[in-house]
Amino acid sequence: MNLLKDSFSAANMQGLMCLNQLSIDWEGYVYDCDFNQMLNMNIRHPVKRHKLHISEVLKTCLENIPVSIADHCYGCTAGQGSSCGGAIA
Ligand code: SF4
Repeated sequence: MNLLKDSFSAANMQGLMCLNQLSIDWEGYVYDCDFNQMLNMNIRHPVKRHKLHISEVLKTCLENIPVSIADHCYGCTAGQGSSCGGAIA
């Protein structure tokens, strides 16, 4: 974990999947990225707080919903995490 934290690079931030893509599971529930999907860290409806479903995405403003983050995000900021296309760096 220290190696990941010490490997932080601001240049990797623009490549983070969670900034411009979604991950969707087989039931249609949406996540900030595939890492969050595997950890069951769902995007929640901003008002009703239930797990957001793809059928609601077009009528829900996602801009004001904060990305769910945890220690695994240090993998991304180190350039080795989720970009929906392999390593960022
Ligand atoms: S693991 Fe964290 S930083 Fe990486 S894409 Fe997912 S939410 Fe964003």
